[in-house]
Amino acid sequence: MKKISLYIHVPFCKKKCSYCDFVSYENVEENLIDQYFQALYEEIRAYRTLLNGNYTVETIFIGGGTPNFVAVEYIEKLMQVLFDSFEVEKDAEITMEANPNGHSNKEEMLRYKKAGINRLSLGLQSADDALLKEIGRSHCFQDFQDAFAAARQAGFDNVNIDLIFGFFGQDRKAFEDTVQYVVQTPCEHVSAYSLKLGEETPLYETYMEQGIDVEEEDWEDREMYRYVCRELEKNGYEQYELSNFAKKGYLCKHNMNYWDTKEYIGFGVAAHSYKDHARFFNTSDLEQYLEDIKRNASAIEEIEQLNLQKRKEEFIIMGLRKTKGFEVDDYTRRFGSDFFADYEKETAYLIEAKLMETDKKNVWLTEEGKDFANIAMMEFITEINY
Ligand code: SF4
Repeated sequence: MKKISLYIHVPFCKKKCSYCDFVSYENVEENLIDQYFQALYEEIRAYRTLLNGNYTVETIFIGGGTPNFVAVEYIEKLMQVLFDSFEVEKDAEITMEANPNGHSNKEEMLRYKKAGINRLSLGLQSADDALLKEIGRSHCFQDFQDAFAAARQAGFDNVNIDLIFGFFGQDRKAFEDTVQYVVQTPCEHVSAYSLKLGEETPLYETYMEQGIDVEEEDWEDREMYRYVCRELEKNGYEQYELSNFAKKGYLCKHNMNYWDTKEYIGFGVAAHSYKDHARFFNTSDLEQYLEDIKRNASAIEEIEQLNLQKRKEEFIIMGLRKTKGFEVDDYTRRFGSDFFADYEKETAYLIEAKLMETDKKNVWLTEEGKDFANIAMMEFITEINY
């Protein structure tokens, strides 16, 4: 049987952060949350026939939004529906994202664990209360510490901490203090994301009003990136992807499956999927999603069947996100051609520019290449609308 990953989107948050362009809604009524979860359960059940007998579920990721913003019962029922609907492997990695402002006391953490969740991804973002306030987060550092302690007391032994950096004028000392706090926690995994500001976000507008050029190459951001990489490495975390670091044995299998371009199905509003060489995604309109599911229709808005060229490009781009890059033999196995022959010009250019390296078995980005990852990856893209 083949293996597959599942993603479930919970699009509700206590309050919208000023930099956020995820599909998530604040201040929603309980009735809407209830309708959403009933639809989600239906959508999941509708996939039973398609997956059962053909696939076992290797990883599940409940993301958002803020999955622990909704009542714990919804998550318990969600897990039940997933277990009832699919063949979930015994040692499946089951992650839930959680924010410190949601349901996160010890009793609630115990209930998540009992429901089958075995990995938590906690959103700290920063240990600097002034920054948290400035970017519209609704928790403070103490809230995070309480949630982390509760997770540990409940027995979660695989915890990721999410960090974000690169805000204009961000206090460097406070950022370094955050990183030092994280390495002392000590958690098993860290995701440290550099801010990519969408044009639709309030913070983008604020920066525009202040005359800040968000497109400009930000060296402060790159310095913070190098600092976080260095400190985490020093403290026993292996960097295995551009923004992800793990203690030995704690790589996030779910995300590795994305970067290995393996198959996954997404459930919920705006959820993306990849199966049988096709990428498809659900509508981002909550009302539309509810309506579609109510009339037993699919909520899929668009399907793109990837041709051979696009599959190669995705494999390379996703592969280059990993510190070890991608295996040349894997490329040949999947596409029946030689990577170095297919991309002779691009490879020569990137190696000459010291952005990429190879030992002929693997191909990966250099330290400098990581700073210019997007530029390096663009070399492999043939269509502008890709
Ligand atoms: S908690 Fe996360 S998903 Fe929710 S608004 Fe903030 S950044 Fe967006």
